[in-house]
Amino acid sequence: MKKLRIGIIDIVSRGPTRALYARVMNPNLASIMPQAIAVWCRAEGHDVTFVCYTGFEDLLKELPAEADLVFIGGFTEAAHTAYALSNLFRSRGAITAMGGPHARCYPDDALRYFDYVLGFTDRETLRDVLRDCSRHRPVGMHMAAGQQPKTLPGVRERWPFIEPTLRKAPFLKIVPMLGSLGCPYTCSFCIDAVVPYQPVDGDGIQEDLRFLLTKFRRPMVAWHDPNFGVRFNDSMDTIERAVPAGRIDFLAESSLSLLSEPHLQRLKRNGFQALLPGIESWFDLGNKSKTGALQGMDKVRQVAEHVNLILRHIPYVQANFVLGLDTDEGAEPFELTKRFLDLAPGAFPGYSLLTAFGRAAALNLDYQRAHRVLPFPFHFLNNNQAMNVRPRNYSWRGFYDHVIDLTGYSFSSKAVFRRFRATRGLTSRGMNLVRAVSTEGFGRLAYYRDVRRRLDNDRQFAPYFEQETTELPQFYRDLVRKDLGPLWEWLPEGALEHDPNAYARAERSGQALGVLR
Ligand code: SF4
Repeated sequence: MKKLRIGIIDIVSRGPTRALYARVMNPNLASIMPQAIAVWCRAEGHDVTFVCYTGFEDLLKELPAEADLVFIGGFTEAAHTAYALSNLFRSRGAITAMGGPHARCYPDDALRYFDYVLGFTDRETLRDVLRDCSRHRPVGMHMAAGQQPKTLPGVRERWPFIEPTLRKAPFLKIVPMLGSLGCPYTCSFCIDAVVPYQPVDGDGIQEDLRFLLTKFRRPMVAWHDPNFGVRFNDSMDTIERAVPAGRIDFLAESSLSLLSEPHLQRLKRNGFQALLPGIESWFDLGNKSKTGALQGMDKVRQVAEHVNLILRHIPYVQANFVLGLDTDEGAEPFELTKRFLDLAPGAFPGYSLLTAFGRAAALNLDYQRAHRVLPFPFHFLNNNQAMNVRPRNYSWRGFYDHVIDLTGYSFSSKAVFRRFRATRGLTSRGMNLVRAVSTEGFGRLAYYRDVRRRLDNDRQFAPYFEQETTELPQFYRDLVRKDLGPLWEWLPEGALEHDPNAYARAERSGQALGVLR
């Protein structure tokens, strides 16, 4: 096979930025899969240039001008950045391929802009792309393995791509690792609910942890597992066999049901510094939070007690909620979240507006069939800048009033102060403060207020939200242009629009994607 010049771009930022928070955190948000692709491409004998795009790089300078093949990975909010980059590299003669969550959620759309769109990608799928490496236009070729790869390159193998990325991080340097893929729970809105749970080989994890001890005085590892600790004892045994207690700091997303007090004690002993449990709703998903049939205020009390217990062992807790679920109605869900904040003031609240990401979950078919999905450009599908599902039990104005009220309450000076007092440690306190005064707290509040004002005053807003027209309000168009910076010029014609019902349409017509393997 001809030796290829391959560029690999992991998009963390949607465009150029100078924000302090982005400078500190973006290099720590790199994904594992683009690094794995880079390892495999090199192992196949090709020249690889890897860039994690954090918003501070000049991609045109960093990537080879004459790349034969460019892989781009990213979440849906980065889709337009990815489409613009693909267009740019194609204009220079490169073949382009897209992978990652957007490629899995919206393959039909991505096929319009890439030669290859990749679903689950294992080494064999990659080999097929490398062997074929040819133009597929105007519609690309969809390729996918039947399931997640059985094995992925570990930290030692990925180090040539991890190290330059972390060099961009001024303070915290967080290494991404995986202890498992998929999840045994079945939360109807989650992309991982349909991926069978599969633990990663423990020996490899141990080797990686020991390797990191040779690279940092005190390494910090973020477990990218959708739900860390499903096989809790196995995970802890693996860590304990590899490193002396507390020598590595760990962060993980884990469901409350896994966080009993004995488990928390063990997590603490092993250096866990931050946990991100998903609470999601006061009226649904009780199996996830170990609250069973409990609902409403009873669930609030139990969950708050549980979160306070976690905070006695672990310095940083982010509690995640989804706003606008179909089970929610009236002011009560929002008021209950406020009571939760009163009862567990140390938890940082992470709010997501209900979003249907294309093919991510079967539930999205219901939303699409009910014509409840709005065609908001991908750029805004980051769980907060737009909610693309029309709420079942709220008017848009009423919904945003509640969201503004809750966000204002969560980031009021009183709440920020109580959070500060209820949290231990400089890093946790500092992190909560920065998040409150930056885009997540104050920034989001200002944005929601702007959207709410425009629902009254901007003539383009209400008809778009009410699905009376698909004409995108100028406000959103301007925002994409501003965020993409120079890449806006490369955004292909029509790329701001997509078919919000593509999944349901494909299911109806029985039309399969062009899967090669
Ligand atoms: S527990 Fe978390 S990772 Fe698992 S299906 Fe539910 S939301 Fe997804």
